Amino acid sequence: MYSTSYMSLNDAIDWTSIAAVGPTAQDLLIGGKRVPAISGRYFETLDPATEQVIARVAEADAADIDLAVRSARQAFDGEWGRMRPSERGQALLRWADLIRRNAEELVELESLNSGKPVASIRRQDLPAVLDTLTYYAGWADKISGQVIPTRSDALTYTVREAVGVVGAIVPWNFPLMIGMWKIAPALACGCTVVLKPAELTPLTALRLGELALEAGIPAGVLNVVPGFGKTAGAALVNHPDVDKVTFTGSPNVGRTILQSAAVNFKRVTLELGGKSANIIFPDANLEQAVKAACAGIFFNSGQVCSAGSRILVHQDIYNEFLEKFAARASTMRIGDPRDESTAMGPLVSAAQMNRVLEYVAVGVNEGARLVTGGTRHGKSGYFVKPTIFADVKHEMRIAQEEIFGPVAVVIPFKDEEDALRIANGTSYSLAAGVWSADMGRIHRFTRSLKAGTIWVNTYGPTDVRLPWGGNRESGFGREHGEAAIDNFTEPKVVWIHTGPPTQNASAAPLN
Ligand code: ADP
Repeated sequence: MYSTSYMSLNDAIDWTSIAAVGPTAQDLLIGGKRVPAISGRYFETLDPATEQVIARVAEADAADIDLAVRSARQAFDGEWGRMRPSERGQALLRWADLIRRNAEELVELESLNSGKPVASIRRQDLPAVLDTLTYYAGWADKISGQVIPTRSDALTYTVREAVGVVGAIVPWNFPLMIGMWKIAPALACGCTVVLKPAELTPLTALRLGELALEAGIPAGVLNVVPGFGKTAGAALVNHPDVDKVTFTGSPNVGRTILQSAAVNFKRVTLELGGKSANIIFPDANLEQAVKAACAGIFFNSGQVCSAGSRILVHQDIYNEFLEKFAARASTMRIGDPRDESTAMGPLVSAAQMNRVLEYVAVGVNEGARLVTGGTRHGKSGYFVKPTIFADVKHEMRIAQEEIFGPVAVVIPFKDEEDALRIANGTSYSLAAGVWSADMGRIHRFTRSLKAGTIWVNTYGPTDVRLPWGGNRESGFGREHGEAAIDNFTEPKVVWIHTGPPTQNASAAPLN
């Protein structure tokens, strides 16, 4: 059934009836061409809803990464690096237009490869991809330096220059969206990119790369090299000609990347895990809080770094909350991601499903009360039912470790101090939610909570205009907004002596 010959994604594959066509072969995208891996190796990628192989994907390793980095360097030193910023912006807008016109194909492909429900990709991921791209297209010709007054015999100013070749390593939970969070600002700044998608979800990244070429973005500006983390990913991080690495994934890999990048002082941005607290006070609008708590943990089957996985509920409303929360969770439609009414699809892989089920066993052993879920849904596909643990103690592993699945832990608290101690008591600091009608309390809390983003009386919305990220095991640096422009540019100072040559200050260098 395997097609061994090269087949472009442009050849109108009907991905929804892949069972009839059989898996296709997908090659790397390097220097504007689809090419097999130098080793000739392919790996299989699956539909997590059916466990069927949907494609064989060329497996990049160090040799292919080297080619991709060279091609990105050539494009940086060539046409892209020299292009007028406004033209770069126009090219990004043409790309956005093509993504819009091919949106349905991307939605279906993303769903097929990741198990994400089509309805939520259409409503959330694709609009975010387009918003990110058009937002940063607008930045392309607005990245400026400053004239900074220093002394009367000098004109001193800064320019912002693109850092160069960027290695972007992305995870499988939002392949298109997180990919674009990295590519769009990098390209807007004039950088070129080698994108390594997650080995579990490489397909939409390849299609994005093809659309970029079709939009007239020059060959080599965006290279897409699927492969495994320890080979392709590590080779990208270790490559001496990569200037900057931007990574989203697990804290352990983030730590390795930071260590490797130290060898030649690469710039690094890391967006890592979370164990975010969603804190509900007795004066909150309970109906809204229940609704948002459900979406906060079960959206994308809990495979979200900012998932509201710890729900802290004041003891006065604890039982009422639990009852309503469990009732709502049990009505969530779980099943075929291609069904428009599905709210929860499968987890991305058998490994992820097993990891989540292991955590359920850990929770039961630790003495937490399993209120609902905790088992697989159906016999094929990696579905896990929405799961709620009650009476969870802050010290338990299920309250401290990131599960990355549809598992909510509900922890009672008695007062603000108690809530704050629990909320800040993990090694993460990505996001948090606070539900209250008391403005004084909201201000006190937002001041004291350790989190990169705090939602008040809502949970989960993000916007590319706002800085995104956390500290400690949640990351290093910020993405989005102007922060991303800073990530992909370097300031350069120009000091022009404007006084008479006889009064030149150059005789007193600082270093
Ligand atoms: P998860 O455990 O959720 O799959 P990972 O952090 O392992 O998250 O993976 C996120 C991305 O990091 C993937 O693209 C993966 O291939 C890549 N990756 C994994 N290990 C390494 C590594 N040692 N160096 C560089 N990239 C890696």
